[in-house]
Amino acid sequence: MTHPRRTTVGIIGAGPAGLLLARLLHRSGIDCAVLESRERDYVEQRQRAGILEQGTVDVLRACGAGERMDREGMVHDGIELRYDGQVHRLDFPALTGGRRVMVYAQTEVVKDLIARQLDDGAPLLFGARATAVEGAHTTRPLIRYRHQGRAHTLNCDYVIGCDGSHGVSRQAVPESERRTYARGYPYSWLGVLADVPPSGDELVYAHSARGFALLSMRTPTVSRLYLQVPNGTDPADWPDDRIWDELQARTALDTPGKLARGPLTAKAVLPLHSSVTEPMRFGRLLLAGDAAHIVPPTGAKGLNLAVADVTVLARALAQAHRTGSTELLDAYSDTCLRRVWRAEHFSHFMTTTLHTAPDQSPFDTRLQLSQLDRIAASAHAAAELAENYTGLPLE
Ligand SMILES: Cc1cc2nc3c(=O)[nH]c(=O)nc-3n(C[C@H](O)[C@H](O)[C@H](O)COP(=O)(O)OP(=O)(O)OC[C@H]3O[C@@H](n4cnc5c(N)ncnc54)[C@H](O)[C@@H]3O)c2cc1C
Repeated sequence: MTHPRRTTVGIIGAGPAGLLLARLLHRSGIDCAVLESRERDYVEQRQRAGILEQGTVDVLRACGAGERMDREGMVHDGIELRYDGQVHRLDFPALTGGRRVMVYAQTEVVKDLIARQLDDGAPLLFGARATAVEGAHTTRPLIRYRHQGRAHTLNCDYVIGCDGSHGVSRQAVPESERRTYARGYPYSWLGVLADVPPSGDELVYAHSARGFALLSMRTPTVSRLYLQVPNGTDPADWPDDRIWDELQARTALDTPGKLARGPLTAKAVLPLHSSVTEPMRFGRLLLAGDAAHIVPPTGAKGLNLAVADVTVLARALAQAHRTGSTELLDAYSDTCLRRVWRAEHFSHFMTTTLHTAPDQSPFDTRLQLSQLDRIAASAHAAAELAENYTGLPLE
């Protein structure tokens, strides 16, 4: 096992952000090394997102990581909203001038990008935990990391923090130089994987007095299903039958029995948060993806924002490498934050429109239903949702 000691771009974290950035840089002829604290199996099995915006699909294709996605992913032309006894379908291509989304699990995106990275022969070290970033405001930043019980140093021209919401890179910035805007929500998601074909062809977002539910899928034979649950819920309190009964009650409306049941293979509770750290650049340390911002998953934006950040960043680093100009790097934070705040707004809107808060009043519920009626009745309101869901332009 060789430990990289010097690279142009040191990347912390092999989630979608770090892996895609490495791929894009490699294709621009810029050397980089990726340090990942977890082992490969863990990273490849971690259940998370599954909806790819049109722009994300385009970037994965363009960088040569889209072949299996195009073979196995499922193109979706819309979603269904169920509320107050009604079913309303949003037709994305009709509302957005042809934009669609792709259902392809984050686990598969990560597997494809790891395979490409290793094929390229580019350094990617698993079990390598970054412990500190130093010298961000110098021209010689470095990453300290531990691998197999020993301490190492990676000297870089740039350090990119793609280490998610609990990583070290954001912490490396003095509190006086960063500002974090955050809010929590008074509910969580209980997410399960089920070995059963999805009951419908498209995702179902259900508003109900019992709480929100989402019927989603990973493959034609695996369903991904979510229930709003109180914060602090223990998944052990939710035996399989209780989950199926609740999904049925919240989503099936007047079609009882339609929800196909099968064995549950994973069960986890996910608290919902929104947060943004500004700026996303501190000298030669730049943050991307969840390291800089988090959205509740209701709008399916987290993975897509990570992809958008590193697409902008790869162009900026390529410009700096090729011409010496830092114009795009200087604009990186502002460019990304415009899109990030739009996605924050959309994710917050979807979350608060579809969930039932513990202290929700009948007035609040009438406002939610009025908003959902508006989306069902107005092509403009529906288009606003569809444009945000399928993804806004990169810059
Ligand atoms: C539990 C969970 C469930 C989610 N579910 C959904 C969902 O259902 N739908 C949806 O749209 N979005 C979901 N998301 C959001 C989406 O998955 C993220 O937005 C996306 O993973 C962001 O990619 P990233 O590369 O920025 O960060 P991550 O995928 O978090 O990758 C960060 C990587 O950095 C590594 N790392 C951390 N610290 C260090 C360190 N010190 N040194 C080295 N490596 C380090 C981590 O192990 C990880 O591999 C979920 C997120 C979480 C946390």
